Order: sequence, then structure tokens, then C-alpha cells
Amino acid sequence: MTNKKILEIKNLHVEVDGKEILKGINLTLDVGKVNALMGPNGSGKSTLVNTIMGHPKYKITKGKIIFGGKDVTNFTPDKRAKLGIFLSFQYPREISGVSVSKFLKATSKEINPNFSLFEFKKKLKENSELVEIPNEMTERYLNDGFSGGEKKKNEILQMLMLDPKLVMLDETDSGLDVDSLKTVAKGVNALMNNKKCIFIITHYKRILEYIKPDKIFIMLNGKIVLDGDGKLADELEEKGYGWIEED
Ligand code: ADP
Ligand code: MG
Repeated sequence: MTNKKILEIKNLHVEVDGKEILKGINLTLDVGKVNALMGPNGSGKSTLVNTIMGHPKYKITKGKIIFGGKDVTNFTPDKRAKLGIFLSFQYPREISGVSVSKFLKATSKEINPNFSLFEFKKKLKENSELVEIPNEMTERYLNDGFSGGEKKKNEILQMLMLDPKLVMLDETDSGLDVDSLKTVAKGVNALMNNKKCIFIITHYKRILEYIKPDKIFIMLNGKIVLDGDGKLADELEEKGYGWIEED
């Protein structure tokens, strides 16, 4: 039997600045599936995906993160990226002095041992067109003066260029107009296949109309308290989170 699990999180406890934020997360994501993570502000969603990516600010005090059968709990973020984990940030950073294309070239070289400049240029052109980022924008400094929507589309361009196995989107849909939202969804759907896995953090079912989830997880107060199929998003939109029991 082939292993369908791409990510396994076992009893994960995480602290930020001495305060426990994640209080025993258990989560399994299967390959070939689209998953959504929903939950109120401050419940720990960003903490979870940043911890999966290996952000040093988040201290694991207990538990394990297994990716593709490997224990990555103590791996550095770049090692995790090389294995195929990708995070689109809730608040993408502006980096002046480094152009989008230079940044993408450097990261692609890091990730792909068979990097070819010819292939890179071709892929950059195709993927920029797909997410409707004009050529001149890839010559601008990374996110510098970009609008909210442009920053998010740029995250999706980065995702397409790196071709990760596990894609985590942290509120990529927040603040997007409907056209930008469709563009983001087009990029994600173009990447998705039966060897990949998507994990979307969102507050709204709107993005889930374009990227159909197989499973939805609900986080409350640092724990996953409920999961269900796509219909759960409708229920949440209607009733909020108040009806969900914490334990
Ligand atoms: P979400 O993404 O679900 O809105 P976060 O993961 O961003 O939630 O935050 C979870 C909790 O962690 C919040 O209560 C937040 O205030 C807290 N938190 C984040 N950073 C720090 C920090 N540096 N010190 C103390 N608490 C923090
Ligand atoms: Mg968040």
C-alpha cells in the first residue's frame, strides 16, 4: 500500500515568547487533497503554518511534524522548502534592493539542483502570465509599493516557480477583489495534482468556491476541535463559531 499521508502532526505544542499558543495539535493531511483551516482570530492558525515552515520564533515544546515520512521537527526552513513545503505569508514582506525576478532566480536555484536559466525564464514568463503579473513588475523590488492584491499574486507566482508539494496559504484571499481572487485560485488550481496537497487558511467560504476543499478543519484556542467536508464552510458562514464545543 502506498503512503497517502503527506503531513502528520502529532501532539504539537508551541510557545511564542513563553506563552503556549498551540496546545496539542493532531492533524493528518493526505496527498492529492485540498484542505482548509478555519477558526476565529487569534486561535493559532498562523502559528501552526509558521511552525510547519520552521519559523524560529515559534518554539516547539512537545510533539512532532512528519513530512513525507521524514521527521522534520528540527529542520531549518530552507531544508523544509527544499523538501517541498511552501508558505504564502499572511503579510508578505517588502524587500527593497532585490527584484522579484532576482529573488525568484535565487530561490529556484536553491530548490532545484538541475536549475537552468533558459527553463527559469520560460517558466517565469508562463507563470507571470497565468497570475496576471506584468513583466515590468517582476523587475521591481520585491513587494515594494505593491498593492495588497499584487503582493498576494506575487506569493502565488513564487509558489508556481518553486513547484512545492505542500502549499500552505495563510489568508491569501483576505482583502482581495473578486478578479484577484479568481487569479489566485487559477494559479493554485494550475499547480494542484494528485501528488500535491493544499492547506488554505481562510475566514471566508468565497475562496472555497474556486478551490474546492475535500476537508475543513476548525481551530479554536490552539486546538483542532472539529473537521468535516466542504459543507462545514456554509455552516460556519451561517452560524459562526459559537456552537462548536472546545473539547
Ligand atoms: P490566527 O492566525 O489564528 O489569527 P495567530 O497564530 O496569529 O492566530 O495568533 C495566535 C495567538 O498567539 C494570538 O492570541 C496572538 O496574540 C498570540 N501571539 C502571537 N505572537 C505573540 C507574541 N510574540 N507574544 C505573545 N503572544 C503572541
Ligand atoms: Mg493569522
